[in-house]
Amino acid sequence: MEIESKRTFPDLTCKYCKDLISTNEPDVLQCHECKEHTHIKCLKRGAVPGGLIGDVFFQYTCCTCSPSQSEQFVREKMPWLQAILLVLYHMQTRSPGLARKGYFHWKIHIASFIDHSWDILFRKDFKRKKKWMGTISGTLSHYSPHFFKSGTTLFNEQGWWTLTYPKLSPAQIVSLNIELMAEKQKLRDSKLAIDDLQLLRGILLTKPFVNEEMLQITTNAEPVTVEGGTVSKLIRTQKKKRFLLPTVASLGLPQLKKIKKSKSPEVKMDIPVVTKPPTYLDPLCHYNTSLDEHSRVAALSLRVRLMGGVRKEPILSQYTSIYLPPYIRRDVAIKPAWLRLMDEVKAKVNQHNTSWNLPKRFPLDFMYVQPEHIPAVNSLCNQFFWTGIDVSDILKYPDFSCVVLYKKLIVAFAFVVPDVNVNECYLSFIFTRPGWRKCGIARFMLYHLIQTCLGRDLTLHVSISNSALFLYQKFGFKVEYVVLDFYNRYMRDDTRESKHAFFCRLER
Ligand SMILES: [Zn+2]
Ligand SMILES: [Zn+2]
Repeated sequence: MEIESKRTFPDLTCKYCKDLISTNEPDVLQCHECKEHTHIKCLKRGAVPGGLIGDVFFQYTCCTCSPSQSEQFVREKMPWLQAILLVLYHMQTRSPGLARKGYFHWKIHIASFIDHSWDILFRKDFKRKKKWMGTISGTLSHYSPHFFKSGTTLFNEQGWWTLTYPKLSPAQIVSLNIELMAEKQKLRDSKLAIDDLQLLRGILLTKPFVNEEMLQITTNAEPVTVEGGTVSKLIRTQKKKRFLLPTVASLGLPQLKKIKKSKSPEVKMDIPVVTKPPTYLDPLCHYNTSLDEHSRVAALSLRVRLMGGVRKEPILSQYTSIYLPPYIRRDVAIKPAWLRLMDEVKAKVNQHNTSWNLPKRFPLDFMYVQPEHIPAVNSLCNQFFWTGIDVSDILKYPDFSCVVLYKKLIVAFAFVVPDVNVNECYLSFIFTRPGWRKCGIARFMLYHLIQTCLGRDLTLHVSISNSALFLYQKFGFKVEYVVLDFYNRYMRDDTRESKHAFFCRLER
């Protein structure tokens, strides 16, 4: 990379006009021979080659240093982020009339501009790949909302983009991005979890060319004040906690009693303490977590009720407007320990009955979540995870779910929350009943959900003592950082599992 990490100009004068170059002057070139600076407007040739506004991405030789006595420009390497910043910056200045309320369309405007300015933007050795247009939309999404702002909510239509900081030049944003990457690396090394936007905000506030007004347009985040100290120090103290899973408080359940301060070291003050801990139920018993008649009847259509089974017609997803098939997969090969045990019991009972044969087993049905599953799933969540869970929200995006039934018994489920972040989905729950584990059910559910989230990262939290981590790692999940006490507000105190969690990501 030939980009300088910082383009700051302390007390510099322009080689040509001899005027002082201010620190927030973006359109300045530096001769790579004599290191002297010049305004772009003062160039002998009047403009940079191509004439793009804000384009300083050249190796520049001034007319004194150049053997031919004329200014020389050699294009630097042009990453896609830089090219798109440049094109948007140029278009917003030169052709604001093209824009729709300040937004440009990625294909109609940005891609076609790049297409006809290809030779100006890129070096001769830069190959034009088949899918270069896809790279443009990918880059826009990747750097959203930090550097590019999408007009999707404004227009209710995808594909419209504008600069998040329209007053910052492409060179200024490129150097901000380099600083952001460096800060992120520092944080990654120290295993701290901080939101990129907050980090960027911290960096922006140290810049002389940034003012309050500029920041207000762009983020809804709480304002951060800088009073000395480095950015990373500042951010560390402002570590923001995000709760992806429903907490007791967010569910609006009655507040549980807080224990008064005492010197006992194992009592943590900010955690609601359950005075009567729910007792663990024998996991091998099924209780009332199979689909009970009431919830089934309430949720099923008359036709399904008359047919007496689980629904057979496709389900319409509100989220994607796609009709989902009634089954993801029906499996008769998987042999969970519980079914093997039942077979053995039946065989034992019938051992003297010579005409007896082991009855054919029913299939394991992998399906999308349906309203009639909710009461049973909630009951299992409350029994095996923590109290107060209501998973009804997943009905809004059934595509991102998998529920496994054996006849009417729910044996496993897994749910993903789509779009928790730009290009990121979050695995909120994955559960298999004891007795049905270690036979590939969770593996298939995870495989199915990963397929559903295609093109987007999938993230999750997992207790550091949970062996499920190995399953995730097999699928390519990487641990990003540790969240101390993540499960404090979720897990019961009597659980044997660690309350610290790994935050893992499957990158796309
Ligand atoms: Zn000048
Ligand atoms: Zn020079």
